Amino acid sequence: MRTCKADGCTKPVDGYSSLCERHKRTKARHGHPLQVGVKKTDLKPYIREIESYLSTVSATTAYDSMNDIWNRTVAAAQADIGAAQRGVPFNVHRLQASGAIVSLSEEVDSVTIVKLVMAMGFWYEDDKRHWKHDDGFRFQTVRMLLRLNPREAVYKWSGNTMTRSTFKEVPPRTTEALWSIVDASKLVSYGAEIARRKAKGLEAARNRVRAERDAILGPELTGGAA
Ligand SMILES: [Zn+2]
Repeated sequence: MRTCKADGCTKPVDGYSSLCERHKRTKARHGHPLQVGVKKTDLKPYIREIESYLSTVSATTAYDSMNDIWNRTVAAAQADIGAAQRGVPFNVHRLQASGAIVSLSEEVDSVTIVKLVMAMGFWYEDDKRHWKHDDGFRFQTVRMLLRLNPREAVYKWSGNTMTRSTFKEVPPRTTEALWSIVDASKLVSYGAEIARRKAKGLEAARNRVRAERDAILGPELTGGAA
């Protein structure tokens, strides 16, 4: 009997998969058998980092550029859908991805979308250990993006109240198609670069303090100086 190849798992594999049933499901959903799903509250501090950078360092035209980038992304998705409607051969996952982009743009303003994608880039750079392989990060980025769209949410009844439930399962290849759209926007890399610059700034500040301390205290006297 073969066992699941996910670290620490001893369950038998599911059919021809190299993973057990649970890890196979996690991989399909989160991009990696051990990737933990990201919650909106986890992302909040990173969105604040992006907002603070935009209001203190970025040019005043940054928001125009962010709008332009997202509008171009939506226009390309609309063009994809239009072509498919005219009978141009299409890839079903790519078309689903384009549909999700257009639907999202109808529900959520572009600045919110762009800030979320940049915040994911910041998080990736700031805390690499959180991500199980790049696939885990890519899937979570797409998932967070889709979850911005209230129409994509699934609702379920518990008792008398209807509560927002788990996000609708998206086929992995549609997630991959969505990632390639997001990646082409360069927004993830801008977020990552903002995190790198922040880390560099903190390091420079620490070095300044150390230099001042050394200047004031001078060399430490050792042995028998008195
Ligand atoms: Zn397993």
